[in-house]
Amino acid sequence: MIIRVDKCSTFGIKNALTKSIQYLPKLLINKQLIPKINIGEAFQYLGRYFSFNMSDEHHKSELISLVEELMADIDSKPLHPKNKILLYSRYLLSKLSWHFTVSSVSKTWVTENIDSKVNSYIRKWLDIPISGTLSTVFLTRNKFGLSICPPSVKFIQCQTVLRKTLKTSPNEAINDLWKATSNSKNIQYDVYNSTKQVLKDFRSGQEDKLHTQLTCQGSFFTNITKFSLSQLTKIWSACQSNLPKNIFNFTVRYINNSLPTRQNLARWGLSPTSDCSRCLAPETLLHVVAGCQSYLERFTWRHDSVLNFLATSLQTVSGSHLYVDFPGYKSPSIITGDTYRPDLLLSTSTSTGTLYIVELTVGFESNLQKNVERKKSKYKELIREQNEHFNSVKFVNLSISSLGVFSKECSTFIEMLNDFDFQKQHQNYCIRRMTTIAIRTTYYIFCCRNKEWMNPELLSV
Ligand SMILES: [Zn+2]
Repeated sequence: MIIRVDKCSTFGIKNALTKSIQYLPKLLINKQLIPKINIGEAFQYLGRYFSFNMSDEHHKSELISLVEELMADIDSKPLHPKNKILLYSRYLLSKLSWHFTVSSVSKTWVTENIDSKVNSYIRKWLDIPISGTLSTVFLTRNKFGLSICPPSVKFIQCQTVLRKTLKTSPNEAINDLWKATSNSKNIQYDVYNSTKQVLKDFRSGQEDKLHTQLTCQGSFFTNITKFSLSQLTKIWSACQSNLPKNIFNFTVRYINNSLPTRQNLARWGLSPTSDCSRCLAPETLLHVVAGCQSYLERFTWRHDSVLNFLATSLQTVSGSHLYVDFPGYKSPSIITGDTYRPDLLLSTSTSTGTLYIVELTVGFESNLQKNVERKKSKYKELIREQNEHFNSVKFVNLSISSLGVFSKECSTFIEMLNDFDFQKQHQNYCIRRMTTIAIRTTYYIFCCRNKEWMNPELLSV
């Protein structure tokens, strides 16, 4: 056997009176001295560093430089923020998992040293100011988050896998090792059955925080989980990820209410006033994108942009008559008279057919349900009247939010599309377009706050 002396090392510990100390052993092979591990330094065995005081300093410094180097590298690339996040999730986190498994650093250390570095880059990529919470982006996509997992959660996952491997090993000695180490520090990892459960626990913790502590930043989340049509969340998320960087980041900051409205700027000490320049009410996000009475024509422009797309899509329904409250179309008042002016009517045939009354509302997330109720009672009488002229009358209460989220009541809209034999793919296409128009128009309205409105053309995407 050939022994490569330069590939070997010696590490010595000996008894000195009452305690053990590290010393430098002199061992020779073939008259060659085996290199020594100096006092205080560590040697690596199967990827784990061992030093006299078992301090994990080597793992810590490697972790820190790995994170610093890779995050700076990802940061320097001219990529969309969603792709930077993807690189972080798929590449960087997996690079950390070895250290997270073999070393015995603490969760607190990971949170304080690694999470904080990663979070500052995530804030930078998404333009989230320090006062904006990251809880919303930690949620999954079907909760309007970006499915980001911080390093400390990855760390708990690695420890959970390690602990479980020890516990379920076929080797009894290994099981004994697990038992012997089921002490205070490891108890927190022994409670989990799987890595999935670690992530689930973390995310439900973030949800709790948004519901109970960060009520202002969690308002979007709270309203949306209660009142939105959950089957369409996937489509919303796909629309979001197709947006260009600036509008993508706008949606993220809209969701955690960290956009620079005057109320937020005043809160952050960056504006002398929190009032709207037009009406002196507090300039909140709701006020800018759906509330201010002097911005009404802007909100109408958004409403009409969505309605315009809807009318165009419904033109193709064969054997039906379309009435839209819009130039270029037959007016709904031909059927309903002048008392009620619903946005859109579709009748399949006279007297024996069905009349669809479509009323579109684009409002702030916190009003999603209120708008449904308001429109329901507003059109109650009209529905009753029309029931005398049509075999059946269906009211399509299309209440969507300014960020393009469909309310529960929009299931009536899907039913209508089904009645007209719209294929699933075509339905999703319509919803995607309506969502995107709502997001883009709201973005434009936000950018024009406290500025003149130049009456732009209706937006079509
Ligand atoms: Zn105002």
